Amino acid sequence: MPVKPSGQEDEYFAKQEIHRRILEQKKLAQAVAEDEKKRRKELHHMHCPKCGADLHEETLEGVAVDICPGCHGVWLDDGELAKLTEESKGVFKFLRGVFQ
Ligand SMILES: [Zn+2]
Repeated sequence: MPVKPSGQEDEYFAKQEIHRRILEQKKLAQAVAEDEKKRRKELHHMHCPKCGADLHEETLEGVAVDICPGCHGVWLDDGELAKLTEESKGVFKFLRGVFQ
C-alpha cells in the first residue's frame, strides 16, 4: 500500500494551482479590458462627442484641432489647449472667422 508523504505536499500543490488560476484570471481580465478599449476607440475616434458627426482636422495657429461640421464644436487633444493659449493672439480671430 502506497504511503502518502504528507498533507503538506497536497496543500503546496493546491496553493500552486490557486496561484496559477489567479494569474490566468488577471491575464484574461487585462485582455478583455484592452479589447474593450480598442473597441471604444474604433467606435468613437474622430466622431463628435456631442452630436456624433465625423470630425475633420484643421490647423489653428499651428495646432491641429478637430472641428465638427454638425454642431461646430472644436475639440482639442491633450496639450493642444496649452499650445493655443501660448499662441492665443490669433486664436479668437480665427474662431470668429470659422463660425461666422
Ligand atoms: Zn458635433
